Amino acid sequence: MDLGIKGKTAIICASSKGLGRGCAEALAEAGVNLVLNARGAEALEATAEALRSAYGVDVKTVAADITTAEGREAVLAAAGDVDILVNNAGGPPPGLWSDWNRDDFIAAIDGNMLTPIQLIQAVLPGMMEREWGRIVNITSGSVKAPIPQLGLSNSARAGLTGFVAGTARQVAHAGVTMNNILPGIHATDRAVSLDAGVSKAQGITPDEATAQRKATIPARRYGTAGEFGATCAFLCSQHAGFIVGQNIVLDGGAINATI
Ligand code: NAP
Repeated sequence: MDLGIKGKTAIICASSKGLGRGCAEALAEAGVNLVLNARGAEALEATAEALRSAYGVDVKTVAADITTAEGREAVLAAAGDVDILVNNAGGPPPGLWSDWNRDDFIAAIDGNMLTPIQLIQAVLPGMMEREWGRIVNITSGSVKAPIPQLGLSNSARAGLTGFVAGTARQVAHAGVTMNNILPGIHATDRAVSLDAGVSKAQGITPDEATAQRKATIPARRYGTAGEFGATCAFLCSQHAGFIVGQNIVLDGGAINATI
């Protein structure tokens, strides 16, 4: 399918690896020019070069922490006029509800709620003026079904979801759509580190932890960054202009709910 977005410009935050990279790859395949971001320059450059040579699109890189004001400014400056924004960042650490103090919550809210909100506020005026824009936020299945050990993530991402729900309806008239994708377990470094946490907590091997988690998913496997990226690219396409303020769960059926 032609997604109709060839030549557009996208910022994809936290995109040298994992789900962000999956989104970058799918958008590059659709002919979108990219600004990629991650803290580590080496993996970022390697990803950028792979996408340039595979798809012939323009790929700029900004090695910076997207949760800092300087990082966000550098990414926005590199992009110029932004047509597509994919918000992403690392997830907060796991723990117990009793572990976290005010500083831990502030850090989680900064990274997973205020960072995407500030980027949205920065790009929305230009998108509305040009009467076209797509914003996709990578959140988590934990927004819909809280994950006990990810209380920081549950809290911060719920806050972002509320902001997006209200704001998406205020900007849709200008041709700008905002939606969230809620990943269940995907086969990325993040999944490996969560499996390691389960393995340690339960005194089982990492392979046993992975098998145990796969057994909880009706699809009996983890999702892939490729599948995730294809969904993101569709939400950024010309065909998705009537999808507004939605939360799309990609979890192999793991959340047991009718709607
Ligand atoms: P990942 O494989 O660990 O990749 C994370 C990417 O983000 C890397 O490119 C990393 O590069 C970059 N990054 C991390 N923190 C950053 C920061 N502060 N500034 C800029 N770049 C940053 O993670 P993932 O699995 O793709 O997860 C992406 C998001 O989805 C996370 O928020 C995660 O919590 C959420 N999620 C994932 C799953 C899953 O199963 N994978 C499920 C639910 C939710 P550098 O380290 O070099 O910065």
